[in-house]
Amino acid sequence: MYRTHTCGELRIENVGQTVQLAGWVQRVRDLGAMSFIDLRDRYGITQLVADEDTPDNIRQVFESLGREFVVQVTGTVRERYSKNKTIATGDIEIMLQEIKVLSPSAVPPFTIQDDTDGGDELRMKYRYLDLRRTAVRKNLELRASMAHSIRSYLTEDGFIETETPVLIKSTPEGARDFVVPSRIHPGEFYALPQSPQIFKQLLMVAGFDKYFQIVKCFRDEDLRADRQPEFTQIDCEMSFVEQEDVLNTFEGLTKYTFKKVLGLDVDDFPRMAYSEALSNYGSDKPDIRFGMLIKNLSEQAAGKGFPVFDTAEYIGGICIPGCAGYSRKQTDELTEWVKRPQIGAKGLVFVKYMDDGSIKSSVDKFFSQELLMQWIETFDGKPGDLLLILAGVKDKTLKALGELRLEMGNRLDLRPKNTFRPLWVIDFPLLEWDEEAQRFFAMHHPFTSPKPEDIPLLETDPGNVRANAYDLVINGVEIGGGSVRIHDSALQSKMFDILGFTHEQAEAQFGFLMDAFKYGAPPHAGIAFGFDRLVSLFAGLDSIRDVIAFPRTNARNDVMTHSPAPIAKEQLEELHLLLKPGK
Ligand code: ASP
Repeated sequence: MYRTHTCGELRIENVGQTVQLAGWVQRVRDLGAMSFIDLRDRYGITQLVADEDTPDNIRQVFESLGREFVVQVTGTVRERYSKNKTIATGDIEIMLQEIKVLSPSAVPPFTIQDDTDGGDELRMKYRYLDLRRTAVRKNLELRASMAHSIRSYLTEDGFIETETPVLIKSTPEGARDFVVPSRIHPGEFYALPQSPQIFKQLLMVAGFDKYFQIVKCFRDEDLRADRQPEFTQIDCEMSFVEQEDVLNTFEGLTKYTFKKVLGLDVDDFPRMAYSEALSNYGSDKPDIRFGMLIKNLSEQAAGKGFPVFDTAEYIGGICIPGCAGYSRKQTDELTEWVKRPQIGAKGLVFVKYMDDGSIKSSVDKFFSQELLMQWIETFDGKPGDLLLILAGVKDKTLKALGELRLEMGNRLDLRPKNTFRPLWVIDFPLLEWDEEAQRFFAMHHPFTSPKPEDIPLLETDPGNVRANAYDLVINGVEIGGGSVRIHDSALQSKMFDILGFTHEQAEAQFGFLMDAFKYGAPPHAGIAFGFDRLVSLFAGLDSIRDVIAFPRTNARNDVMTHSPAPIAKEQLEELHLLLKPGK
């Protein structure tokens, strides 16, 4: 037996017992008459002590230990003279009797404690040391407990957890596939799944009725912060359901997880149409923890002789409570902020509704006080409020206002990390026009069904067809999305047609799915949650990296194991990626 207790376990009740612990040396302190070691494992830290009564040979070993040595000790538990209230074992210490070094350690490249001195790159290179830090380990413990709670909820509800293959044929989900060359079939490739989409639909044809899987998915996307090329989804599909059934099931799952893991009760999730999200929040993933809604001022503000407004497709603004007192410097800085390329506005108009009821604005020349007052009334503005107004092309301006709204929300502390306001965004457009390719793409994926009442528009005005598609958004983060699927092969081939697939291409890529649909496909719908994002949201983190045990760095290469990496010539030949000499 290596240990009788963990390093987080002993309390005052254990005083007098002889115990055996094993763990890592966090810190050695030699105070002359006495020396101390903080011994750490994943459960906590226990103080070990050696003094003049400790046999010399044992004390020598004790004092020679370095940080991160793995040791096994035997000793007696005694009450501490000066107690440490910050740790659970702070009332006691272990008087050393025996010590054995199980494994020495080189000097670690950074200190293994909460406020480490290690930079990002170094911590990633030595991720196994980083994972020894409580703060990092806690995130992974949270992840495990969330996975556990999700599994138990769905299993209780009758979902069958089913694995689907990883070496598959390419499925279109809008990103690039990672591909794996086949040795046995020269010149042919597998793709790694961007999601198990087709398989879960086939499971519905198979009559599984309720499927789920916590599954790795792969997307070879360009570098973006907070994206990982491999990530985990909670992937689900249900039969004989309508959109409402899916929303209710997964609202239930989300609420259960909040309660079980964080002890929080969250309100019912409001439902918001995509069009409303865009016009009021400038985003399809609105953060509804705070108001500050966007209002359209186009009608009131155009045609009054201010050229910027008169030539704009859209004029809109937000009302910032209590900020009329902003100085010139502050409004200049905000103007610079909206002009950054990421936001892309040309300028910023502001109207200050001063505490004394007067109005000051950057466009006094063009607009009377009465007109400005009308704008303020549109926002239900109060004395002390500041209006920020942008104008330009509609989509871009709404998006910029959405970003500005979030920025002001941050500056005014309106986005607390421990408040959660989930909602469903529904009625997404079915198709998205791509200027470059001059064709429609599926906004969600090609298996998403149009709203029945919009089906006639497929012929006449495909861009305005709404889909039975939905996203779960929490605090401005898209947590998941899904749709009611097409289960009719005629409608499905029509979709492929609209998406620009020839009959042959559709047949080659999805023939097996269309075939399956000939044998009795039940109406079905599903959803997938980004598990990493959900965990990072629960953990109050901005990045998903810290909730993944071995994440990729932003450079996308693995600084620890150095993948991707070249492979041997023989391997390339075997995979038919390199011709053998003489062939
Ligand atoms: N497969 C979709 C995705 O990964 C989710 C779904 O429609 O269920 O986004």
